[in-house]
Amino acid sequence: MLIVQKYGGTSMGDCERIENVANRVLQTKKAGHSLVVVVSAMNGQTDMLINYTKFFSKLPNEREVDMVLSSGERITSALLAIALEAKGQKAISLSGRGAGIITDSIHTKARIEYIDTRKIIELLEEDYIVVVAGFQGIDNKGEVTTLGRGGSDLSAVAIAGTLKADLCEIYTDVDGVYTTDPRIDKNAKKIHKISYDEMLELASMGAKVLLNRSVELAKKWDVALITRSSFTQVEGTLITKEENIMEKPIVSGIALDKNQARVSIADVDDRPGIAAEIFGVLADKNINVDMIVQTIGRDGMTDIDFTIPQTEVDISKKVLEKFQNSVDSIDYDCNIAKVSIVGVGMKSHSGVASTAFKALAKENINIMMISTSEIKISMIINLKYAELAVRTLHSVYELDK
Ligand code: ASP
Ligand code: MG
Repeated sequence: MLIVQKYGGTSMGDCERIENVANRVLQTKKAGHSLVVVVSAMNGQTDMLINYTKFFSKLPNEREVDMVLSSGERITSALLAIALEAKGQKAISLSGRGAGIITDSIHTKARIEYIDTRKIIELLEEDYIVVVAGFQGIDNKGEVTTLGRGGSDLSAVAIAGTLKADLCEIYTDVDGVYTTDPRIDKNAKKIHKISYDEMLELASMGAKVLLNRSVELAKKWDVALITRSSFTQVEGTLITKEENIMEKPIVSGIALDKNQARVSIADVDDRPGIAAEIFGVLADKNINVDMIVQTIGRDGMTDIDFTIPQTEVDISKKVLEKFQNSVDSIDYDCNIAKVSIVGVGMKSHSGVASTAFKALAKENINIMMISTSEIKISMIINLKYAELAVRTLHSVYELDK
């Protein structure tokens, strides 16, 4: 088999852990498989590098930021290759450039356009274990780009998809996907199989098991994804097509996202085109808007509330400044949490939402915003009730049973 394995920052956290990864990789190799290994930077390294760049400026030049950030994965990929060689195994590390990962030019959150896999294939044929620095690529001008936080999952899935690998194993410090974050609710249960779509909705979960974009990509390329722990031999969670899952629970999991901020624009002119203008300037900066609520207009005015990632509050403030004089106020609130109920079974069952609303009301938790999709109900609540809300919902849908 051709297997792509990806090891996250905790698995690569120090030299002993890298040695442990080398042993795992060797195990797979000795079982007769071909292997591409994608790695993250050491745990905390990327945060530290980001802090360095922010020492000088709130909005540092993003080209330079990418030059700094991409170094973390280069270090761990080369260290793993050295560790494998020391064990007598042919291994070689490749940067994003070396691996042929071509992206667009949007620094700090580039998208992979394609992978020129010639070099990887050549090396696999020569029986090397190919270790690829995750989270990075180059654009068509040869400039180094990074793929956004958590982006090495994406590197792994893209490589697996392009190489038509049999399996893509994502190793982290958690042993799979749970019905909710076990640190919040100790009654959380491991999910053995889950559909891409449910995983997409759960990926924003605090546990950060997998990046959304990597699941989207896995779905598109039909890559069988397994998420498991590099510290145990416990079986992980398989993420696959909905057709492959026999028993479909109504609710599969409860997700929590504490990284959103709410933007409230009060007294906007209620006229055609206004939403297009506001969300247009945000889209121009690639700011990811999640929930949007617009109130019913009164006296020619309306209020627009929406959520964005907290990390994009500064840049949003800057681009929304030009509306400052034509509205009553623009407020930013980071003191919120988004709690979501996810399950494919919702497609064919009613009453899931009202159960949630009743359960939260009983705990006196106020819901500020609601949005729904076919398989998800999301609610914005005050941050201080986040954990309580998760536990309440987890038990009301009997996910602990
Ligand atoms: N090192 C990068 C980050 O911390 C990418 C990754 O770990 O996937 O976001
Ligand atoms: Mg990571």
